[in-house]
Amino acid sequence: MSENNDIAKCLIIGSGPAGYTAAIYAARAEMQPIMIEGMQPGGQLMDTNDVENYPGYPEGVNGPQMMMEFRAQAERFDTDIKSGYVTKVDFSGPTHKVWVDEKDMYEAHSIIISTGASAKWLGLKNEIRLRDLGGGVSACAVCDGFFYRGQEVALVGAGDTAAEEATYLAKMCKKVHMLVRRDEMRASKIMQQRVFDTENIEVHWNTETLDVLGDQTVEGIRVVNNQTKEESTIEVTGFFVAIGHKPNTVIFKGWLDMDDTGYLKHKPDSTHTNIEGVFVSGDAGDKVYRQAVTAAGTGCMAALDAERYLAAKGIH
Ligand code: NDP
Repeated sequence: MSENNDIAKCLIIGSGPAGYTAAIYAARAEMQPIMIEGMQPGGQLMDTNDVENYPGYPEGVNGPQMMMEFRAQAERFDTDIKSGYVTKVDFSGPTHKVWVDEKDMYEAHSIIISTGASAKWLGLKNEIRLRDLGGGVSACAVCDGFFYRGQEVALVGAGDTAAEEATYLAKMCKKVHMLVRRDEMRASKIMQQRVFDTENIEVHWNTETLDVLGDQTVEGIRVVNNQTKEESTIEVTGFFVAIGHKPNTVIFKGWLDMDDTGYLKHKPDSTHTNIEGVFVSGDAGDKVYRQAVTAAGTGCMAALDAERYLAAKGIH
């Protein structure tokens, strides 16, 4: 076990758009931030092919490329980026402790959490294969729906996200097949009504996905009605999965207030958590918007909140 004796002014956990933006702001404010990259450096955008909705990229940008640019900008201002995964935290004292890969311990006056969230997937072999190929499987209609305009797509899920994404897709796609595994939806009544009122959404009740068809890109899906056991193929070119997200916040359990699904709570109009000097940004504390640009925005907010916190404590 190694201990780093210096107490950092600011330590950032996670390296998606929220973390890098927090790093850029914190570094430019001379907080000499240390960033612990986490399990998937770059975050969810590393799984995204084309990002067309992030301002400043008029031609769109490939997700990993965009994250390299975020990283380069954070490094330009001397962010100390360390690879590793935070395995334990201790927020009991006036300064905060973080253990990386169960061995290195870091101590910091302020912590910015930007550990993000992970989309849930069905776990089908071809779903994951085509997702990794960038072949038409997505967990974000707002990010990727535009690529399927005029086409037929399928979407799995029956919660508010699924209902919202189905109506979003229906605006640009020829038809949306919504696959609901039960005979009712979990989504709020108003969101369900929007689905029912949209002519080009067909709800397939009691329907589960067996396979995603296609070699390099999605060509269709194989589904089964779990009541009648009847199997069928639906021809689609896009397959959207909207069965929920899981915030990456398990290590903060017991320290930070979170909702039932693990999203970190923060004080209204700020990034302050229930622990002084610990701030949350990005998807780890946002189950509603979940966009790269909103994550970056809250990363900026967290760095500004941390800077003010340090100033109020007289830490320069
Ligand atoms: P939810 O957990 O609410 O819903 C997940 C949905 O996916 C459920 O309908 C579930 O089915 C279905 N599902 C889960 N696993 C599978 C599977 N293996 N196969 C098929 N279907 C599956 O997640 P959401 O992302 O929709 O919402 C998360 C939270 O965010 C909720 O509290 C929601 O209200 C909120 N939210 C609010 C919005 C708003 O207010 N505008 C917008 C988006 C989200 P089943 O019902 O059968 O369990």
